Amino acid sequence: MLAAIEAGGTKFVCGIGDATGSRLTRTIPTRDPDSTLADVARFLAEAAAEHGAFTAIGIGSFGPLDLDRTSPTYGSIAATPKPGWAGTDMPGFLKARFGVPVAIDTDVNVAALAEARLSGVRRLAYVTVGTGIGVGFARNGETETGFGHAEAGHIPVRRHADHGIFAGTCPFHGDCLEGMASGPAIKAAWGHSLEGLPPDHPAWDVTATYLGQLCRTLILTTMPERIVLGGGVMAQERLLPLVREATEKQLNGYCGPWTHEAFTTRIHLPQSQEPPGLVGAYLLAATVADQ
Ligand code: ZN
Repeated sequence: MLAAIEAGGTKFVCGIGDATGSRLTRTIPTRDPDSTLADVARFLAEAAAEHGAFTAIGIGSFGPLDLDRTSPTYGSIAATPKPGWAGTDMPGFLKARFGVPVAIDTDVNVAALAEARLSGVRRLAYVTVGTGIGVGFARNGETETGFGHAEAGHIPVRRHADHGIFAGTCPFHGDCLEGMASGPAIKAAWGHSLEGLPPDHPAWDVTATYLGQLCRTLILTTMPERIVLGGGVMAQERLLPLVREATEKQLNGYCGPWTHEAFTTRIHLPQSQEPPGLVGAYLLAATVADQ
């Protein structure tokens, strides 16, 4: 039995079980670190009493995270505008509370791990498009980490003509990818989220074009076998085929093993039965269970 935590900016999804399925899960609203982690610990203790002890804990967390293995604050939340969370050491807290090994990585890295395992591919990029845009990478059953984690949601994008002079919403870069195509960016530019906009509204093509630029960059720089697009914005079914089309159009035939068919078979929504971040957190826990 393993414990898994998908630590998000608005909610923590906790479970005990393993990567094939949870025995029990609970969703806890994210507040200040002390009360949130106290609820997490209470759930894990109750779940263990009911279903048996767990041997390790895996955490897929919102970032930024200190993932430099040589750092004295390894595993802690790094500088974040989220009040109270900077410097929070979740692995340290849980290790002290339960006396089992605890592993941590980003929510998108562990989600990549889960989706790579499920689809049996060696290289996978997992993208979440929601409140922010994050990208995680799995390669040969491991996540891409050791010094830090990628921040590909903040790559520069080429402005879409229909976006006019919209300044973008990223507090650091303005019109980076996250500033132009995240949920809050769509709302700021058009006054509605995509679900509130008709199919012929320019917001669809604008958003798909930016996400196509990300997929293009991912293919050119990391050559993944599969790109998985998750998050609240991708829940709009019309968007995925538009992103596939935009990616293929932009690459214009220059994309190595990505043939025409690849754009429909290799760019996908998540396939995990449970949230990919939770499934990935179990996989991460399994890597330290024997330590
Ligand atoms: Zn940015």
